[in-house]
Amino acid sequence: MIDWTEVETVLLDMDGTLLDLHFDDFFWQQQLPLKWGEMNGIDIEEARSRLLPIFRKTEASLSWYCLDYWSEQLQMDVFKLSFDISHLISLRPYVIEFLSHLDKLDKNIVLVTNSHEKFIELKMQKTGIENHFHHMFNSHDFGHPKENTRFWEVLAENIHFANKSTVLFDDNLSVLRSARQYGIEHLLGIARPSSQAPLKDTAEFKAVSSFRELL
Ligand SMILES: [Mg+2]
Repeated sequence: MIDWTEVETVLLDMDGTLLDLHFDDFFWQQQLPLKWGEMNGIDIEEARSRLLPIFRKTEASLSWYCLDYWSEQLQMDVFKLSFDISHLISLRPYVIEFLSHLDKLDKNIVLVTNSHEKFIELKMQKTGIENHFHHMFNSHDFGHPKENTRFWEVLAENIHFANKSTVLFDDNLSVLRSARQYGIEHLLGIARPSSQAPLKDTAEFKAVSSFRELL
């Protein structure tokens, strides 16, 4: 699937790639509509249908990933809602083994995420993987989500990486496409971002079923 001798830099997405996307799916599709509905005196179905157009408007923008934006839009502390369900935060299988393997191969290991800093902190606390990265970047600091090629330009201003010797693992097809447009050579999708959802069609991208395949 990948010739490691050609790779120097490994860019890794967080949610749905290293971490089970089930937490995020549950948070946005269950917890948030439920609690927002309770606050507004409506049931979860009604809350979902009212939230859907609001969510759609911001999709693939930085606001979509911004907890502060949603707290203001929905007039509630959105981050706080995650506390009740933080037990759902978990690593995908063989992530620790894979990260250790990359370290042994002496690769530059870089986290690149659209996740908000509060979620990053919570998820690092829960999973303890922070020490496995040489660098961690979130798109909020860059001012552009990964779906925008500008993100990769700003990343290149922050760390040295050569397109030819860089691999990106990401469960988001729009992100893989923007990285390809920028010129990153090796791109891999994730076949099962959520342990609780069906296999994902990764379209034109090869997909990793389990990091075990790469050990
Ligand atoms: Mg992701």
